[in-house]
Amino acid sequence: MPEQTTLFAPATGPGRSAVSVIRISGPASADVIRTLAGPLPAPRRLSLRTLRAPDGTPLDEALVAWMPGPASFTGEDMVELHLHGGIAVRSAVLRALADIPACCPAEPGAFTRRAFLNGRLDLTEAEGIADLIDAETEAQRRQALRQLDGVLGRIVADWRHRLIDLLASVEAALDFSDEGDVDDAALDAALADKARAIRDEVAAVLADARRGERLREGFTVVLAGPPNAGKSTLLNALSRREAAIVSSTPGTTRDVIEIRCDLGGLPVILVDTAGLREAGDAIEAEGIRRTRARMQQADLVVMLEGPDAETVMPGSMPAVPVLQVRTKRDLDPVSALPDSTIGISALTGSGLDRLLAAIEDEAVRAVGHGDALITRERHRLGLSRCREHLDRLLAGTALPELAAEDLRLAVRALGEVAGHVGVEEMLDRLFSGFCIGK
Ligand code: GDP
Repeated sequence: MPEQTTLFAPATGPGRSAVSVIRISGPASADVIRTLAGPLPAPRRLSLRTLRAPDGTPLDEALVAWMPGPASFTGEDMVELHLHGGIAVRSAVLRALADIPACCPAEPGAFTRRAFLNGRLDLTEAEGIADLIDAETEAQRRQALRQLDGVLGRIVADWRHRLIDLLASVEAALDFSDEGDVDDAALDAALADKARAIRDEVAAVLADARRGERLREGFTVVLAGPPNAGKSTLLNALSRREAAIVSSTPGTTRDVIEIRCDLGGLPVILVDTAGLREAGDAIEAEGIRRTRARMQQADLVVMLEGPDAETVMPGSMPAVPVLQVRTKRDLDPVSALPDSTIGISALTGSGLDRLLAAIEDEAVRAVGHGDALITRERHRLGLSRCREHLDRLLAGTALPELAAEDLRLAVRALGEVAGHVGVEEMLDRLFSGFCIGK
């Protein structure tokens, strides 16, 4: 059923700017133009108009774009008002819009939600928009753009259509089986070959070592090592920001401090941890517990050790890649280090380039450059479920009724990835994470 309300919202950020854009979508869009800006301009062209409040008071000189549906972003009639970017200008136009019947302010993500509900985008493409807006690095931007372009959506749609064809043949066989004129064995073999081909394609996409999710979420590097090894100082030097407390009193970095940075276009989250040692007090014990938890979740641990090898790392080493680093080389420039250990001085900056290059190498290996198809846990769960149902199908039940059910469930799992079925709750979560006006 088409939406009755007409939504409006600023599409550009708050505060003062050169231009500020307000978007409007819904059946009253043409009325909005007639009320505020006079006769409808030519579609998809910018027209310079004087905007007036319904009582005739001038509000602004603005560019007006009229985009009739269904060939618009939301699929509905839409308007964009390009205003002068003053706060009072925007507020006055928003007030005037609120006075027009059937117009109401949009929730975050409401425009994209309508685009999805009107079939202009599938769910993976809507997620691509969210990711593109959130992208902070080049590789994240490229990955989001591929998803927005519908790469994952098209592959999932192709599998889904092929499975629906198989389901149709199985159901036809069920219908005919009473008449005893279908060669069950021949049908099973052909069906199994096709199902196996799809299962293998799904499995190949799943076997990506979570590269897409890691790129989307950031490659996490935990700086670990005994107190005073120089973790906080290194974090500051690497991020070139005074974000972590640097102190010569052991145990001051009690909590976990994170800094997001861009290494060669890859999003890297550097995490400074509380010193790993026997707990001095309860708060520090909690810090150490969190450190251990972060190390287990990390993509890479940078294990720091000072020249005097203060404390031995307690407990076991994490099951993630570890880079060994010797700190404070300015105090101890000559002692020999194993080849695999990187010597640095956060004070003079020596060795930091080599350390950064080593972190970047690990990140490239683990994350890639945005060619993964799966970018969210949600996609992975859907595809895994699809594969499980196909595995069960191929494990060879002779009963066509069960084959049909497995195929139906596999189709459903793919439908959830694309947003065709069973995703109401998920939609609320996804779209509430968008900006207002998107
Ligand atoms: P953390 O406990 O591992 O976070 O260690 P901090 O970063 O707080 O550093 C402990 C002490 O070592 C501080 O006094 C730092 O100034 C000092 N320090 C850290 N890095 C270097 C370095 O590269 N050279 C020298 N000379 N001192 C350092």
